[in-house]
Amino acid sequence: MVYGLLPFLVQGIVYNLSLNLFYQEIMNIEKIKNAVRNIPDFPIPGIQFKDVTTLFKDAQILRELIDGLYEIYKDKGITKVVGIESRGFIMGPLLAVRLNAGFIPIRKPGKLPAAVYEETYSKEYGADAIQVHQDAINSGEIVLLHDDLLATGGTMAAAVNLIRKFNPQKIYVNFIIELEDLKGRGAFDSDVQIDSIIKYAI
Ligand code: AMP
Repeated sequence: MVYGLLPFLVQGIVYNLSLNLFYQEIMNIEKIKNAVRNIPDFPIPGIQFKDVTTLFKDAQILRELIDGLYEIYKDKGITKVVGIESRGFIMGPLLAVRLNAGFIPIRKPGKLPAAVYEETYSKEYGADAIQVHQDAINSGEIVLLHDDLLATGGTMAAAVNLIRKFNPQKIYVNFIIELEDLKGRGAFDSDVQIDSIIKYAI
């Protein structure tokens, strides 16, 4: 039984090692990490807020990020990139253009004008809901969801549930930052491939 799992374990280790090597070639991970601004106790006490605007204002880092993301997803056949309001609206459309895919916004309630699907969820601070237009995606599409940061995973798990309503062929999920100690990956089923560029403990 355990031996049967070995090939998958080895495959996973090799995938992560080669991904790390690949990241180092295209992106200066340490430089990107140092460029994220940490703001303690924002928006409420106890939260270490990771501000990505300090990444995006640096032309070289912005270029490295988009080039790196493109390399990860260029051969996946992605037809739609979905960005989560609002920080997923910055890299999401840039990546969609590079991948020759469409861009779909997932928004907070009351913002999208046509008929929507909705999911509610809880996050690191507070509870919320997200919506997507009912005609955003066709059955069988290959979809990449993007947001700036993975904390508990509540927001993105709700977004994945929302996108499953369209019966996609495959779902990929991407974050710039992952707060590993919050174990957000646990919020997703194993059929969803998750990648993040830089990781912090919290
Ligand atoms: P979660 O649903 O807990 O994974 O939270 C992820 C969402 O909340 C993302 O849209 C982030 O932009 C935002 N968020 C949560 N925690 C932080 C944090 N420490 N710093 C910056 N943004 C955060």
